[in-house]
Formats: sequence, C-alpha cells, structure tokens
Amino acid sequence: MNFDLSEEHQMIRQTVRDFAEREIKPVAQELDEKAEFSVELTQKIGELGLFGMYLPEKYGGQGLDTLSYIIAVEELARVDSSQAATLAAHNSLGIGPLYYFGTEKQKMKYLPDLCTGNALWAFGLTEPNAGSDSRGTKTSAKKEGNKWIINGSKIFITNGSSPISIGTTVQTVSKVKGQKIEFTTFIVENTNKGFTQIPMHGKMMWRASDTSELYFDNCEIPDQNMLGKKGQGSKIMLSTLDNGRLSIGAMGLGLAQGAYEMALKYSKERKQFGKPIAAFQTIAFYLVDMATKIELARNLLYKACWLKDNDRPFAKEAAMSKLYCSEIAKEVADMAVQIHGGYGLIKDYDVERFYRDQRLLQVGEGTSEIQKLVISRYLFSE
Ligand SMILES: Cc1cc2nc3c(=O)[nH]c(=O)nc-3n(C[C@H](O)[C@H](O)[C@H](O)COP(=O)(O)OP(=O)(O)OC[C@H]3O[C@@H](n4cnc5c(N)ncnc54)[C@H](O)[C@@H]3O)c2cc1C
Repeated sequence: MNFDLSEEHQMIRQTVRDFAEREIKPVAQELDEKAEFSVELTQKIGELGLFGMYLPEKYGGQGLDTLSYIIAVEELARVDSSQAATLAAHNSLGIGPLYYFGTEKQKMKYLPDLCTGNALWAFGLTEPNAGSDSRGTKTSAKKEGNKWIINGSKIFITNGSSPISIGTTVQTVSKVKGQKIEFTTFIVENTNKGFTQIPMHGKMMWRASDTSELYFDNCEIPDQNMLGKKGQGSKIMLSTLDNGRLSIGAMGLGLAQGAYEMALKYSKERKQFGKPIAAFQTIAFYLVDMATKIELARNLLYKACWLKDNDRPFAKEAAMSKLYCSEIAKEVADMAVQIHGGYGLIKDYDVERFYRDQRLLQVGEGTSEIQKLVISRYLFSE
C-alpha cells in the first residue's frame, strides 16, 4: 500500500494552494459580505485549467485523474467555499453528465467552451416539492414534432444563472404510464425560448456563489438536445450524484483543513493566563481531535477517488466520503470557532465565514440522512 501522492498530485496541490492564497483569500470576505459572484475569479480559475481538468485534451481538458480534480476542489475550499462550489458544481454536475452521457456532437459543441472559465453549466434536479425524493420531479417534457416542450421549475441550482451561465442539464418526467414514471435529461441553453433564470438571494453560506431558480414555460428544446436516451434520466442522475459526492467530500475536507490551520495558528498567538492558549491541554486536545478527523476524512475520500480512477465501483465509498467529510467539517469548524473565543463570532475573522459555509455540506447533493440511506442499501445488499 502506498499513501504517497505522486509528484503530479503534489504539484497540483501546491499550484492551486498558491493561487487560492494569492487570488481568492484577499477578496473572499468582501465577496461574501456583498454576496457577489465574481466573473473575474471564475475566469482566473478557468485560466489555471481547473475547469474540465479530468476531460481528455480533445474536449479542452487536461486528461488528469479524479484525485487531481478532488485535490483542486479541496485546496479552493481550504480558502473559500464559494469559489470551490462554483468549481465543483461546474465540473461534477455541469460538465460531468455532458461528458459521460453526451453524443460526440454534443461534447464537441459544449465542452471546449466549458473548460475556459468563460462559460458555466449547471445540473437542475431539485424542485420546490422534490428534494431528497427526486422521483417526485414534476417538471415535464412533451414531444411535439421534433421538439420537446418543457414546463415546470427547479430550485437551488448552483451556477444556474451566474453572469456567465450558458446552460443547464435538467431532469424531467417525460412519460407517466399508469404508475410508471420515466425520467429524461435535457440540455437547456439560456437562449431557449420559455426558459427563465432567477438568482436566489439571502443565503447564509456560499454567498459568493450563484444559486438560482429555473423556470420553464412551454420551453422549446430541439430533439437533439436530449442527453442520453429517453428514460435514461434516473441513471444519469445517480451517476452524476455519485461523482458530485466526491466533490462535496472535497469541499468538507478542504474547509475543515482551513479551519484547523486557522485555529492552530490562533492558539499559538492568543495568550490568556500569561501563556498561549495552545498550552492548555483542553485546547491541544481540541486540535488533536480536529487533526485526527481530517486525516481520516482525507484517507476515506482519496480511497474513493482511487477506486474510481481504477474503474472499480465507488458509489458506496463516495457516499461515505460525502457523509463523513461534511459531518467533520461541521465539527471542526465548530471547534475552530470555540478556539477563537469571541473573535470567532465576528466577521473580521475568516473562521466565522467557514462556520456558516460548512452548513450546506450536510444538505446539498443528498442530505446526511439520505447518504445513510444510500450506504445502508449497499451494506444490506453485500
Ligand atoms: C446552496 C445550495 C445549492 C444547491 N445546488 C443544487 C444544484 O446545483 N442542483 C440541484 O439539483 N440541487 C441543488 N441543491 C438542492 C439540494 O440538493 C437539496 O436542498 C437537498 O437535496 C435536500 O432537498 P430539500 O432541500 O428539498 O430537503 P428535503 O428533501 O425536504 O429534506 C428535509 C429534511 O427531511 C429529511 N428527509 C427527507 N427524506 C428523508 C428520508 N427518506 N429519510 C430520512 N430523512 C429524510 C432530510 O434529510 C432533511 O433533513 C442545492 C441546495 C442549496 C441550498
């Protein structure tokens, strides 16, 4: 067993870490405060080559493995979850289904642009009344001639309408035969008639990322914009979520790492009772717990990536990684705030933002409860 990262993986970590420290850290707090999506930062992330990095070069990617991409998400989340969310949603939820299920023509049409940072893509699954229960999807598609007419709405869609969003892959009900429901996925471009994108405001976390509502009012989609086959929607959804769970795991891990580093530094600088608070065993033990959880989370997540990169089944491990990394992000961020005392509750300190940003991780891409359902199904079928 070899736990060493390759030289390439180490180089990717260092490059993304330097970028995040230099370009994102100085502006993260202000963007969060203003709830502002930064086109400039997104383009810089694109210039660095992080969009579509796991795609073959012919589609504009770099042909890197899953672990490389996961390390990139982890390093952005170590500094700022909003930018990491843009990267993770675009790569896993946006580009992913196009790459894995698109025709060659669809891939050549969309993917090269999506690797530049000048265009973003989203995955619209969640609806106002269909969250955990995605089979409750009501948005419908009806065939008319060589077009599909889509009606319905989606909610909470990351990258759904940022200033550079150009499209979304959406899940619809395409046929209801008695009790049998069939799902199909469509590629929707923001120029399609009857399609409206509305940014959502008032988020507690990921405030500098774009979260939107999507509306389809007799939205006309050409037949060639079906993704995969008719009725293949559930398969596309499950596969997309398996990959997305690795990204959310990386966001939890990166956030926990960043919060831990802040707490460690602060504990050495802050003096009470005439000594650094790190000298108190209670504080040292908090830091031990944080570091141990992070170590476990990283091993679990990287193993899931290794399984995927070696073409082994990885869905159970992806769900475990998502569950564990997001839960420890909550615990580590909480301990980091505790170590900062009152200062941890003030916006001047980044740890306050980290404490808010972790909260989505136990909800998005399947709540912690749903991850446990998914994992238990694997356990009982083994
Ligand atoms: C910022 C943000 C970004 C998002 N980005 C996207 C995106 O890009 N694309 C997209 O499609 N969606 C996205 N989502 C939606 C997200 O995936 C859903 O919020 C999530 O799946 C939960 O659905 P819900 O909010 O409807 O909660 P509900 O499903 O209503 O769940 C409410 C509670 O009930 C529990 N629950 C539900 N069913 C069960 C059960 N069977 N057993 C036990 N407990 C259960 C849940 O765990 C939860 O605690 C995003 C959400 C947010 C907030």
